[in-house]
Amino acid sequence: MSLFFEGHEDHVSIIKHRDGLECDACDRSFGDVFSCGECKFIVHKKCVFMFDIQEIFDHPSHDGHCLKLLTTGAPDYTDQKCHLCGKKTKRLLYHCSDCKLNLDIDCIIDHICARSPLKMPWHHHPLIKVEHGNNMLCDFCNESGIDYCCPRCRFMIHERCVFVFDSPEITHPSHVRHPLKLLSNGAPDYTNLKCHICGDATGNLLYHCDICKFNLDMRCAVRKPTPVALSDVKVHEHTLTLMPRLISFVCDACGMKGDRAPYFGISSSPKQENKSMTVLNCCQTIHLHGHFA
Ligand SMILES: [Zn+2]
Ligand SMILES: [Zn+2]
Ligand SMILES: [Zn+2]
Ligand SMILES: [Zn+2]
Ligand SMILES: [Zn+2]
Ligand SMILES: [Zn+2]
Ligand SMILES: [Zn+2]
Ligand SMILES: [Zn+2]
Repeated sequence: MSLFFEGHEDHVSIIKHRDGLECDACDRSFGDVFSCGECKFIVHKKCVFMFDIQEIFDHPSHDGHCLKLLTTGAPDYTDQKCHLCGKKTKRLLYHCSDCKLNLDIDCIIDHICARSPLKMPWHHHPLIKVEHGNNMLCDFCNESGIDYCCPRCRFMIHERCVFVFDSPEITHPSHVRHPLKLLSNGAPDYTNLKCHICGDATGNLLYHCDICKFNLDMRCAVRKPTPVALSDVKVHEHTLTLMPRLISFVCDACGMKGDRAPYFGISSSPKQENKSMTVLNCCQTIHLHGHFA
């Protein structure tokens, strides 16, 4: 077993991309899940960090009591509801055997966040330290071995990647019209979820413009920004400029269709007064992938 499941190591197996299996720690159902053959719980990869927290001793409503993580639902002799928020608990929950009371995962997350000192200037929730993050992927760089997570948004990040960000908003050369917000819980459902420049799937962390519904992944934003202008290209004598949005076009270099972020070259013609007309009339669109990638 690669991830950390104290006490369940021998029974836990991974179920790949089985949508429709609802997680026992949150209400969502997407992506890879882990399932324990003994306890019958199902948990997202993103929610596994809860297993890092087996016991809690400092909960204000159970001072001096031990809240223990249970994986088989509330004990039969107890009220199944969370005694703080009143919601029905799921298979994963915390239980106080002194009070015979149950708390759901969301209320425990509220408590963990409230006591965490790891407040970052770029995120509105505090992060928590994850001890067993060796095999979890960082939402910034996609490499394994994370150190922190935001328990509310469920994003994971390396210590070294935390300092890439310094503000919840940036101005980016690929979208100069508006500031871009750093989102940490995936792209909004009503948008085209892929990066509007490279077309790759966006992860939990991405930059977003509300006004234009524009999504930019971490690679194109920070790790390997797409140049907004190319001047040293064999295929066109003029400088090629990136048009950073979703737009259908046919590449003039290879004849293939593209659906986003072409480069285009403007041949200036003094008679044309309308600039956008100039672009459309004289453009030489070249799509990004395959030519310069
Ligand atoms: Zn979950
Ligand atoms: Zn108690
Ligand atoms: Zn609750
Ligand atoms: Zn990282
Ligand atoms: Zn968060
Ligand atoms: Zn991208
Ligand atoms: Zn915008
Ligand atoms: Zn092409």
